[in-house]
Amino acid sequence: MSGASPDREARAPIRHVILDRDGVLNRELESGWLTDPRQWEWEQGAIEALEVWSEHGIRISVATNQSGIGRGVTSRQAVDAIHHWLSKELAPLGVELVGIFVCPHAPDGGCECRKPRPGLILQAIELSGVPAEETIVIGDDLRDQAAGRAAGATVALVCTGKGMRVRDSVDEDTLVFENLIEAATWTVARTRAG
Ligand SMILES: [Mg+2]
Ligand SMILES: [Zn+2]
Repeated sequence: MSGASPDREARAPIRHVILDRDGVLNRELESGWLTDPRQWEWEQGAIEALEVWSEHGIRISVATNQSGIGRGVTSRQAVDAIHHWLSKELAPLGVELVGIFVCPHAPDGGCECRKPRPGLILQAIELSGVPAEETIVIGDDLRDQAAGRAAGATVALVCTGKGMRVRDSVDEDTLVFENLIEAATWTVARTRAG
């Protein structure tokens, strides 16, 4: 881990993690957008991380840009079916999500929810009941940290998905983890210290 300033390290415990989906929970597809649950392949450490957070009572949300809907490449129905499947996969592991927050809009749609805008993050924070100061946003792309920062959360990059390519471009406030399990280990330590 690197890139964390001492001020950030000293901040409040983390009680809510907001995760990007593609490249963080699941492997990105070369072809672009997942349209079917059968295309879902877990990223390294992702399931284990979800279990660790759940065991420690840390709430979990997913915030994902799915512009394939707005572009007409996939449908809202297909995306919802994947998320329904995901929730069912996680239930037996004791992992329950606050919610899966989706921006369905095309990049030129001018919406408030597409990351790097903070709309999805603010929705997740509101529904969780956990303040932004006790929230961390974790993603594999700079727009994830931009959205989290704009919402007032702690922000982190994981080096799965696009993460390896952008790790040298992160802002100074960004925590950098190899993968999600390293992020989970850090979060739990942070929360215990608080
Ligand atoms: Mg991503
Ligand atoms: Zn949107």
